[in-house]
Amino acid sequence: MRLTVVYDNNPGAPGLQTAWGFSCVIELPETTVLFDTGGDGRILLANMARLGIDPATVDLVALSHIHGDHTGGLEDFLARNSEVTVCVPPSFPAEFKRAVQATGARLLEVSAGQRLADHVYTTGEMGTGIREQALILQAEPGLVVITGCAHPGVVEMVAEAKRLMDGQIELVFGGFHLGGQSRSRLEAIAHAFQELGVRRAGPCHCSGDEARAVFAGVYGDNYEPINIGTRLELALPDTQ
Ligand SMILES: [Zn+2]
Ligand SMILES: [Zn+2]
Repeated sequence: MRLTVVYDNNPGAPGLQTAWGFSCVIELPETTVLFDTGGDGRILLANMARLGIDPATVDLVALSHIHGDHTGGLEDFLARNSEVTVCVPPSFPAEFKRAVQATGARLLEVSAGQRLADHVYTTGEMGTGIREQALILQAEPGLVVITGCAHPGVVEMVAEAKRLMDGQIELVFGGFHLGGQSRSRLEAIAHAFQELGVRRAGPCHCSGDEARAVFAGVYGDNYEPINIGTRLELALPDTQ
């Protein structure tokens, strides 16, 4: 499976546009997933083109939460390819859901954790304030958890992924929403990751530079620097 960060506010390779928001493409043998869409559809589509990802290959769009820096690119994306299922937490506004369905796309609301496609799962809707889902991928040697902003708490979301899937977590990356947290709090969160058995960590988007530095210190060689254009290859598990 190949993971490509197509939208992030951390600069990466030249030629890619850096902007506030997050989006990641997951390419599997049978399915291509777009997780979040960034804030601006023109930037999303330009970055995808630059990275050689054809929007027409996407089958499933999963939106972590309602914020514009994760959903703002959806309209332009659906104008290019509406032959997709758009998976959202049920708390999304009715108007948003209607607008998705009006494009011809199929809407899938997920309250509980469930399978979305081969090797692709969701935590389901979490949180009491800003509701959010995280994506869980079955890879080898372990699970990959991708968070949008992790508003319900990144440790809580990882713990829920672990509870649902009952497996070793190889990598967690995405927005951890840790801006403005104290250093001791950030260290406690990185250590909580280690206690959950998370082998590699890659905070990006709304995690903050301080959180990136703390995770880099705690995780050492197992810190995964995630920026716009980052590409990760993972093997698929032998058995489903
Ligand atoms: Zn965000
Ligand atoms: Zn957010």
